[in-house]
Parts: sequence; structure tokens; C-alpha cells
Amino acid sequence: DRLGIGSSELIKKLFLKGQMLTINSPISFELAEELAVDYDALVEEEEEIELDFGDKFALEITDKPEDLIERAPVITIMGHVDHGKTSLLDAIRTTSVASGEAGGITQKIGAYQIDKAGKKITFVDTPGHEAFTDMRARGAQVTDIAILVVAADDGVMPQTIEALSHAKAANVPIIVAINKIDKPEANPMRVKQELMEHGLVSVEWGGDTEFVEVSAKARMNLDTLLDTILITSEILELKANPKKRAKGIVLESRLDPKVGPIADVLIQEGTLRIGEVIVAGESMGKVRALVNDLGTKVQSATVSQPIEIIGFNDVPSAGDTFYVIQNEQHAKRIVEEMAKERKIAEVSRKSISLETLSQQMDHANIKELNLILRADSRGSVEALRDSLLKLSHEEVLVNIIQAASGAITESDVKLAEASNAIIIGFNVRPTTNALKEADSNGVEIRTSNIIYHITEDIEKALTGMLDPEF
Ligand code: GDP
Repeated sequence: DRLGIGSSELIKKLFLKGQMLTINSPISFELAEELAVDYDALVEEEEEIELDFGDKFALEITDKPEDLIERAPVITIMGHVDHGKTSLLDAIRTTSVASGEAGGITQKIGAYQIDKAGKKITFVDTPGHEAFTDMRARGAQVTDIAILVVAADDGVMPQTIEALSHAKAANVPIIVAINKIDKPEANPMRVKQELMEHGLVSVEWGGDTEFVEVSAKARMNLDTLLDTILITSEILELKANPKKRAKGIVLESRLDPKVGPIADVLIQEGTLRIGEVIVAGESMGKVRALVNDLGTKVQSATVSQPIEIIGFNDVPSAGDTFYVIQNEQHAKRIVEEMAKERKIAEVSRKSISLETLSQQMDHANIKELNLILRADSRGSVEALRDSLLKLSHEEVLVNIIQAASGAITESDVKLAEASNAIIIGFNVRPTTNALKEADSNGVEIRTSNIIYHITEDIEKALTGMLDPEF
């Protein structure tokens, strides 16, 4: 097709080279290259990539180094409720978007992009670590840098710690924004001290975490925060290839009574154009319109850009990966395959449990056992943590990704799911919702009232001696 040559001509040519082939025969890369030379064409080797549900159809051209360009960092804002996540998102957006720009601030498409001294930064518009981890549990890592907001008048609170664990589990750099410094009772020093206890040491105290004191309300130091984001992202050397077919993540989706399904996506690779065939989860379609975060219709969208896509035949789910596919036939096959694979995946969850752990360690190179701990008091959390950490040995490291007091929550289960972790409860029970979530996602929760029983279980699992529980 690309060369504009009929198949019979190629078959004849191959025949003359001593190859008896039909239109359905696969040919090697070398042979394709040999043929192409006769037509003055260049053949590029394609590499099979692993798609959601192991899709086998999509082919991607390997990135050439010269095609990789710097891309905008994608930021998620996390922190305790009422510490100012939404206010900060709004303040950054309104300060950064020139008042004259079309559409203005009203458009909300799951993320927005700003320009700071010629560099772009993308902010995910759904604050909070739940949304963040939901995506991760679905295999979608959207965020490059997490901003941990802590109100200077309130200090570190339970959800601050939770957000911190979620960001750490995702292995993304964290910038602390100490918010509400306009308030007379603000005490940024206390925030720094409290976070130091949780392993975030500010640069001025010899650590490697950037702390920026801001006020979302009084719009103080927002520029410094943006500069800090840019410096952090420079170190990450974020690059992407805008030349290939687009791929990205669905951030939000809805059904509009007038225009049909709408998906807000974040583009992670390539450039998306009107008219292209797209697939996300089990939905497909042709891009009819693209609307940017300012409400302007555009012809194309590129890496790190949030964009609204109109043209899907069905509403895809948040967290689905979307891909541009060569043609509609191909897209249909992928969607069918996705549906099949989903059904298989529903039956056999790949989650980790203590029983299967030792087998999985052999297969999947599991060198770390991720645990989430809950106990009835701070003292018992520490006791539990200490005794479990002692079980690490040279082959398997016990890695505690979160330890807190209180009941086991839905958010713990999501974190466990996203991080392949097991939840351990000492003298505590899961909430009903947590139990439901764990059941449907194959996350293991082990509870006991005796620390010794817990450590014994884990120790046995680590040495592959655990008897299945009936
Ligand atoms: P979220 O729950 O983390 O999204 O917090 P919000 O953005 O909704 O803010 C919670 C409350 O704190 C609101 O009443 C805000 O007006 C207030 N707030 C947010 N940022 C600041 C700030 O910098 N200074 C002051 N004084 N109040 C703030």
C-alpha cells in the first residue's frame, strides 16, 4: 500500500528471487528490505509493544533518538482535605492564563496546561491521591511529579501521610507546598519538622525535598512553585516522540446528549489528529473534534497535552489507555480482543497473596514484599513495623509502603492493588467498603490480634513454607 504497488507485482518479484509466496504469506524483515531497495524505499523495523490486556496487534516504530523532544511534566496535587488542593489548582490556572485567551477558564477537561517562561506544565485537575492510585491500579501512570499540599496552620494530618505513601509507592518525586502562609497562625517550620519524621527532609536542612511556602488564596509564591516544578522536571529529563501515532490515558469521560461520548485524555506519546481511528478500552471511533483546555477547537494535539476527544462510539473509562490505530478494521479486532481479554482477566486476577507469593517470587523476580500496615494505635503500628522489617533477608526485602493506625480503608486496598501489596491488620478490621473492594480485586487482607502470628505468617511466606489457608 505504501509503495503504491499491486500485490501481484510483488509476488512476481519474489518468485523471481526464488520465493513461492501468496498474498497471505509473512515475509522476513530482511526480505522486505531487499524488496524495498528495488523501489527506492526505506523499511523501518517495527517493534511489538505490550498494550493493555496484552494486545498483539498494535505495532509501534521504535523511537529514533533525534525524534525525542522534551515534554511538559504532568503534575498531580495531593494532600489532606481542606489544605487547599483545589484552591491551588485554581490559583495557578487563573494566574497563568492570560485574561484575553479564548474560552477562558471555564473549560474543565481533566487536566490543564500552563505556560511558564516558555515552558509548559500540565496539571491533572482531579486532585487527591485516590484518583491518582485508581489510575495506577489500572496500570496507568500519569503523574511525573506530585505536589504535597500541607496547610501551614494545620500541619501534617492523616491524609497527608496517606498521600505521601501513595506518591512514594508510585516512585514519583515530591514537592511540598506549604499552603496558607498568609494566615497569622501559619507555622511552616512545624510542617517541615513533621514531614522530616516521615522521611521528607527539606533541601535547606540537607535533604533532597523541595519545600515551597505558598498561599493559594493570596497568590503568594506561585511563581516559585512553578519554577521548582520546572527544575525538578529538568532533572527527570522527560522526553517523548511527537512523530508517532498518539497514545495516552483517558482522564475523564461522559456522555453528552448532543455530541455523544466525550473522552478527556492526556496524550503521552505522538500527535493526535482529526480523522484518526482511535481505540480506548472497548470503545473505538474516529476523531471528529478535538477541544483543548481553553475550549478552543484544534486540528491536532501532542505530548503532555490534555485534550477532549469527540468521536468515540461508546464512553471509555477513566484510566483506559487510548491508541491511534491504522484503520477501522484493525481497531475492531483490537476492541474484540480487549473484550475477550477482559473477561479472562476478570476470572483470573493476577493479584498477590501470601500463598502464591513464593511461586510468584520464582517467576516474576519479586525481590520485595510490599506490605501495608494498619494497627489500633501508633505504638502498635511501630511495634508491628519493627518486627516485620526484621524479616527482610538477602533474597526478599520487606517493604512497608504505608503504616498507619485505624481501620483498613478502601484507599488502602487501592494502594495495595496498585502496588501489589498485602494488607496486614493488627487489632483492626477492614471497613465494609474495603472488604468489598479487596474481594473484587483479589487483594489479600490478613488480620490478627497477635503480632507473633502475623510475623510467623510472613516469615513462612518468605521462605516458601506457608500452607494454604482453608
Ligand atoms: P482541598 O479540600 O484540599 O481541595 O481544599 P480547598 O482548596 O477546597 O480549600 C479549603 C479551604 O481553605 C477553602 O475555604 C479555601 O478558601 C481555604 N484556603 C485554600 N488556600 C488558602 C490559602 O492559601 N490561605 C487561606 N487563608 N485559605 C486558603
